Amino acid sequence: MNNNSGVKVYKIRAAVLRRKGGPLKIESLELEGPRDDEVLVRIVASGICHTDIDFCAAWTKSDEALVLGHEGAGVVERVGKSVKTVKRGDHVVLSYQSCGHCRRCLSGHPAHCQHFYEANFGFQRLDGSNALHRGGVRGHFFGQSSFATHSLATERNLVKVPKDLPLELLSPLGCGLQTGAGTVMNSLKVPKGASIAVFGTGAVGLAAVMAARIVGAGPIIGVDIKPKRLRLALELGATHTIDNRRQDLAARITHITGGGVDYVVETTASPKMHQLAVDVLNPQGVVALLTGESGTDSLPEGRKTLGIIQGDAIPQQFIPKLIELYQAGQFPFDRLVKFYDFKDINRAIADAKRGDTIKPVLRISKK
Ligand SMILES: [Zn+2]
Ligand SMILES: [Zn+2]
Repeated sequence: MNNNSGVKVYKIRAAVLRRKGGPLKIESLELEGPRDDEVLVRIVASGICHTDIDFCAAWTKSDEALVLGHEGAGVVERVGKSVKTVKRGDHVVLSYQSCGHCRRCLSGHPAHCQHFYEANFGFQRLDGSNALHRGGVRGHFFGQSSFATHSLATERNLVKVPKDLPLELLSPLGCGLQTGAGTVMNSLKVPKGASIAVFGTGAVGLAAVMAARIVGAGPIIGVDIKPKRLRLALELGATHTIDNRRQDLAARITHITGGGVDYVVETTASPKMHQLAVDVLNPQGVVALLTGESGTDSLPEGRKTLGIIQGDAIPQQFIPKLIELYQAGQFPFDRLVKFYDFKDINRAIADAKRGDTIKPVLRISKK
């Protein structure tokens, strides 16, 4: 179908947020075909990440409806003229967006893109346009808006993946798992034998636990208030766990390490946990804050806190590495995933909010 200006328009279905807190409703929309630098992806599956849930809860502009979703995986359906790295039929995982031409992007640090906020949370292309038609709905969340049958991505936020692995399983690599593992491997570069505590054993925290085991850290201490998650943390690489509703966190860490810890990965965004992370830190130790803050804060005796975005990962390099580790049995992230039909998106979100499901993945279309 073509619209009046000759641009090809695709009929799609997408889960639309029309009021604060939801529920999301699956609606028919129209999506422009890809521009020269864009790729139209038929979405097979999308993970649900806490950032999606936070947006549902916090969104207040009732006159602007949104399509969320930023852990899409699917099949390339059509490519723009200048796209070189993928072709129709390729399998891809979508990740965060970056501008590709600022100083930080050009120096190989797209997670620190100067336009990161606008490119991921602007709900429009960087030139201000919006490819979604009808009903005042806005897309382009993380350069994808993957709670939909189709998304527009660019070569900067898609990663070609092997066709012999199930796309629905690979979808959460694009944000949560990359962030947790990347924090340990890229941002902190945790060395062999270093002690590490992971506060919050959701998908991001458990990815950090698995990565800590891969790099040979120890002890690896998982901290949470859900016994079920703590048991899973032990199976995935934690050497110790602390239920901080029942146990004194600082005293237990002193007991386990004989002092403090070298690294804390803080995923809970609770001010109390932030303070505890600093309190249990060894001199020269680092707290990684995966809570949206950026920048470094220096503390006494060489301690510091570091705000981390997307585990400082370059998706096209790091996601294939995580897939190799998965295939080698070292990064068994399939243990975190529970699948839902697209129509059950609100139930999936509710299960994730309660902490019953660690990583919900929506099955959106057949491979
Ligand atoms: Zn940039
Ligand atoms: Zn995310």
